[in-house]
Amino acid sequence: MNSRHRWNLTATSNVVACQGGEDTMMEPRPIPKPEAGELLVKLRCVGFCGTDLFKLTNNLAKPGMVLGHEIVGEVVALGKNVKQFVKGDRVVVPHHAPCGSCHLCLNGNETMCETFRDNLMEPGGFADHVLIRNRATALATHKVPNGVSDAAAVFMEPAACVLRSVNRSNLRPDGTAAIMGGGSMGLLHLLVIKATCPDARVVLIDPISSRCVLAAELGADKTAAPGPNALAATTAMTDGYGVDAVFDTVGGARLLEAGLALSRKGGAVVLFAHAPNGQRADFDLNDLFRFERRIIGTYSGALSEQEAVFTLIASGRLNPTPLVSHTMPLDDFALGYSLAKSCQALKILFTPSRAASS
Ligand SMILES: [Zn+2]
Ligand SMILES: [Zn+2]
Repeated sequence: MNSRHRWNLTATSNVVACQGGEDTMMEPRPIPKPEAGELLVKLRCVGFCGTDLFKLTNNLAKPGMVLGHEIVGEVVALGKNVKQFVKGDRVVVPHHAPCGSCHLCLNGNETMCETFRDNLMEPGGFADHVLIRNRATALATHKVPNGVSDAAAVFMEPAACVLRSVNRSNLRPDGTAAIMGGGSMGLLHLLVIKATCPDARVVLIDPISSRCVLAAELGADKTAAPGPNALAATTAMTDGYGVDAVFDTVGGARLLEAGLALSRKGGAVVLFAHAPNGQRADFDLNDLFRFERRIIGTYSGALSEQEAVFTLIASGRLNPTPLVSHTMPLDDFALGYSLAKSCQALKILFTPSRAASS
């Protein structure tokens, strides 16, 4: 099929298009047609991710771009040779898939693979209809079992990122951890740790007391405000050693320094969040040399983590739905953005535009 036939010009549906800076606007676009190996899905829900927030607040979203990548949709059209799905299937789709054969993939760094960077969703997730490219269709799309809600399934991508973070920390099943930040990714760390390391003890650190209350309800062994309270909590929990692993879900140099102070000798600080662009860190290098501390970056989730998380969610061992604080149609995207930016929301899910739902 040549590009002339790529678009179904008679049919349009709504997308939330970036306008430069923080601005977005809902606008109609032609609905793409799936080519061989591709899927067209009708949106059921899409998660608003910290990466979307970062791109909008840091002027990284170019005009016309459609963000969003955590989607659950219903299959409405199939390209040739797609045998594993049928129309009407409810599917969850990640937007990246590694090549599986390059030097980076073969050394366990699939999320660094050049091919992994390709966005496999057209135009993006904040859209009533989303085209799924063939590699994502073949490798990474999962049919959602009956009994698993859209709101649970939509966490496959973010929870895979979190599982990679936990795996990279080498946290033991009965280890100790501190999570810095009680937003949706901090709380998701708590849930993933409790699902995969059931005997681990976890301190969640956040300045907002309502988030600490929710963290305690979700299984945190202790909660604390940042600063001396956090240090006292981790010290008390570990007989003075400090925790095995610290997860920074906030980002930035001050958080890294705080994380190093909470970690034990030989422990790890995992950096899970964006720092402000270009920020440099300043800490005592001997914390690393003399005390064998490790600072570990973690980025996105690989296919193996997506598989593992999908199994955890499908089995009910991981239920992230308490993290959904708001559900609203794509029409209200600007409201959702401002709630996320001002830390008044945990996970926001967008549903199809009002026009598509009516
Ligand atoms: Zn995401
Ligand atoms: Zn690769």
